[in-house]
Amino acid sequence: MPAFDLVVLGCGGGPNESNLSSYLLKPHDALWSDGIVALEAGSGIGALLQLLKTEPDLFGVRQDGKGHSAAEVFSWIRCYLITHAHLDHVNGVVLGAGAFPGPPRKIHATHQTLKDIESLFSDRIWPNLTSWEEENLPPYVSLIYSVLTPDGQYKPISKDISVHTMPLSHGRYPSCVLTMYDSAAFFVRHDPSGQEFLFFGDLEPDSIAGGGRTQAVWDTAAPLIPSRLSTIFIECSWPMGRPDDMLYGHLNPEHLIEELANLAASVWKTRNSNADREDTTSPSSDATSTNTPHRVRKRQKRNHKSFSHPSPPSADQLRGVLDGVRVVIIHCKDDLTGEYDRPVNLVIADQIRGLVEERGFGAEVVAAAQGMHISI
Ligand SMILES: [Zn+2]
Ligand SMILES: [Zn+2]
Repeated sequence: MPAFDLVVLGCGGGPNESNLSSYLLKPHDALWSDGIVALEAGSGIGALLQLLKTEPDLFGVRQDGKGHSAAEVFSWIRCYLITHAHLDHVNGVVLGAGAFPGPPRKIHATHQTLKDIESLFSDRIWPNLTSWEEENLPPYVSLIYSVLTPDGQYKPISKDISVHTMPLSHGRYPSCVLTMYDSAAFFVRHDPSGQEFLFFGDLEPDSIAGGGRTQAVWDTAAPLIPSRLSTIFIECSWPMGRPDDMLYGHLNPEHLIEELANLAASVWKTRNSNADREDTTSPSSDATSTNTPHRVRKRQKRNHKSFSHPSPPSADQLRGVLDGVRVVIIHCKDDLTGEYDRPVNLVIADQIRGLVEERGFGAEVVAAAQGMHISI
């Protein structure tokens, strides 16, 4: 039984404004009309109007047999969950503010991202329809800022859904090379079942950014894979061959495969240290006649070694480690010069799939596409 339903309203990395990062999410056992979480808000109602033309019952049908209108579906949005404030991730929430009936919606994001979004609602770029307060709101307030703190805790954001936020590096601006621009990764949990998925905002590879932020996300995900966490949304903005100095805070397949290798190694280490731990703590380990003090000491020595200085797994040991994991590729930048005869998201996903097969990690690679319905 899936935990979530997700519809891809937009998944491109720009500049085509009709297909920007935007995902509509609900618990699988709830109706869309019970409340939607908008995960990113790049494309908005324009993208949905287009999608409903070809698939009118994407969000179910009304009693008269007709599909729900785009405005109706948008009125069901209860909150937004935003990784960072770049326009290709927030355009929809700005343009849609105040346009749809319903109570004020929360925007869940880190404090810095909310401050950046606030700069758009300045009464200059867009009217200020937002509030940091939740009580005694003036009638024009349509959005309420809600801070997500990367504190290792899950914060409830909607009925049955909680989020654990971790910071990511998203590069530096050429005019301000000293400052890292932050993005975020979300562990989105279905509270009743404990099932989760991992959603990455835009990110720069750890090997360029330094600081090991992506590694920290992999280390957090590893113990959950694949029984509690089997779906990972991650960006790959560029196709193969894009040089490092032209990544602009994003991934290409060459870097993504190294990130997946880091995840595989982390999963391998988790499983192996768990096996060691079970070995030492199992009730029989010290109670059987075969456990002479010498053997126990030897095992303790071995375990101590594996906890404090785990040797990295070999390429062979990583084969099949990501079995049961689905990697959904998002945020592919548009192919503006017509270099490829197929959609660029399919080209990039094929390149990544080839690399994953070469290493034998076992993960399934899927290209996100606009209009796709994904059960998680
Ligand atoms: Zn982006
Ligand atoms: Zn970005």
